[in-house]
Amino acid sequence: MSEECVKELSNKERMNLPFQEMLLMDPEKRIKTFEEVPVGYTPEQAKTEAMRCIQCKKPDCIQGCPVGIDIPAFIKLIEEGKPAEAAKKIRETNFLPAACGRVCPQDKQCQAVCIVGRKNLPVGIGNLERYAADYEREHGTLELPDIAPDSGKKIAVIGSGPAGLTAAYELRIRGHEVVVFEAFHRAGGVMVYGIPRFRLPLEIIDEDIKFLERIGVQFAYNMIIGKILTLDDLIKKEGFDAVFIASGAGLPKMLDIPGVNANGVYSANEYLTRIYLMHADKFPEFTTPLYQGEKVAVIGAGNTAMDVLRTAKRLGADVSCYYRRSHEEAPARSEELEHAEQEFLNWKWLSNPVEFIVDENNFIKQIKCEKMALSEPDESGRRRPMPTGEFFTDDCDTVVMSLGCEVNPIIPSTDDEVRINKWGIIMVDESTCQTSKERVFAGGDAITGGSTVILAMGQAKNAARAIDKYVRGKLKEVPNVPTDPNAPGVQWSFAG
Ligand code: FAD
Ligand code: SF4
Repeated sequence: MSEECVKELSNKERMNLPFQEMLLMDPEKRIKTFEEVPVGYTPEQAKTEAMRCIQCKKPDCIQGCPVGIDIPAFIKLIEEGKPAEAAKKIRETNFLPAACGRVCPQDKQCQAVCIVGRKNLPVGIGNLERYAADYEREHGTLELPDIAPDSGKKIAVIGSGPAGLTAAYELRIRGHEVVVFEAFHRAGGVMVYGIPRFRLPLEIIDEDIKFLERIGVQFAYNMIIGKILTLDDLIKKEGFDAVFIASGAGLPKMLDIPGVNANGVYSANEYLTRIYLMHADKFPEFTTPLYQGEKVAVIGAGNTAMDVLRTAKRLGADVSCYYRRSHEEAPARSEELEHAEQEFLNWKWLSNPVEFIVDENNFIKQIKCEKMALSEPDESGRRRPMPTGEFFTDDCDTVVMSLGCEVNPIIPSTDDEVRINKWGIIMVDESTCQTSKERVFAGGDAITGGSTVILAMGQAKNAARAIDKYVRGKLKEVPNVPTDPNAPGVQWSFAG
């Protein structure tokens, strides 16, 4: 469509344009490869999708984005055939656009409030963000940002997930020396050892890390803070002016049932980390092994469970999902569930595992479950799973539990000045992300419990602004850090 044509379109005509579906790799083909499943928009599709945006005068989509991307502005640039400029516009507020375009829950955020969505499908904001970011990477149009003059201040960032990387970027461009301490041997956090390659290719995160290195962020790998160096070592011996804790929520929850310690029983975190970070699927070429045979049982039906199911399938197993509620209650995003359902998996809804049955060498050989029924909806509208007294057993040689995660305890357990609540979440002042310890700030999953990439980034942006003021002696507010151990973690934080 010509630009002239574009200008002539009325809002009604724009809103009636068909939503541009992104093509997916064929299921038969994709279960044999770790290549990315959605193949991306063509330039024509991107332009047509951009034309569906009516450029609202008061765009709710910006409020719906935890980092406040100027969504209509970048979409307009795509419509005008300027994807490199669109990427630049996104980068004003989000320095991980290729990752966010792929993994953000847009259906619950910006797209949930898009006005076009009232009558038609909302504008594909995430797909367009991905298109602009991919164009920028593939055409080498990325420009380095301006860096403020050297402040003479030194900041330690603990953890290199989206929160740590965002804080590192925001603090570096403000002129500070930034060192990221990471427990693993590579950066990216859950984006490299949790989210599978078929949803978020590794080279995307690697490019983002290289970009940070180019602007002067330093990375110190294999450094477990709390073990190798404490917070006090960083502040008193290493001379850091402030510390930002972004150590995530990597402590898995396990079922408390017989057989849970059997060989072949994993948490989702361990299973995915062994594969994506340690390359256990290529053992013995890489030294980390993975005990996976032919029948894999995955427990849970959230987003992480979908990732485990689809990963195990790609490793050639017969894979089954066990969940104590029904399909309707599955907590996974509808798109994740839909993609998994296309991949020839077995679904055992209303099935509650009660025992892992082992052989004489303590290797898992069967999973025993009780069949469940659902109660009437309670006050919250949720239907509770109710035992029926009926049991069944299935053969399996691997079990992966995907039941959620809690905050990494290492840092607070080695520094009692850092206050946590009864769930281990680090308590902070919600507006500045200051902890109860002088000079120490925190953000991401460490202050919320398991959350999302973009919320972790939003909090990191808030924290970076506060840290910048703090080290320059301009942060006047007295931090208000909750003292009640029953206080919840931070629920929502809009960086604006
Ligand atoms: P993390 O990403 O967990 O990073 C923390 C980093 O700190 C890690 O690299 C860790 O090694 C390091 N670390 C921990 N302790 C120490 C220490 N003591 N010293 C030094 N380093 C330390 N979110 C989405 O938005 N979309 C998705 O599709 C999505 N899919 C997911 C799939 C899986 C399998 C999982 C597990 C999570 C998923 N999430 C998703 C959630 C999302 O990844 C997290 O909310 C996000 O990564 C949190 O970022 P973070 O920076 O706080 O922590
Ligand atoms: Fe465009 Fe939807 Fe945002 Fe309005 S709410 S500016 S239509 S993306």
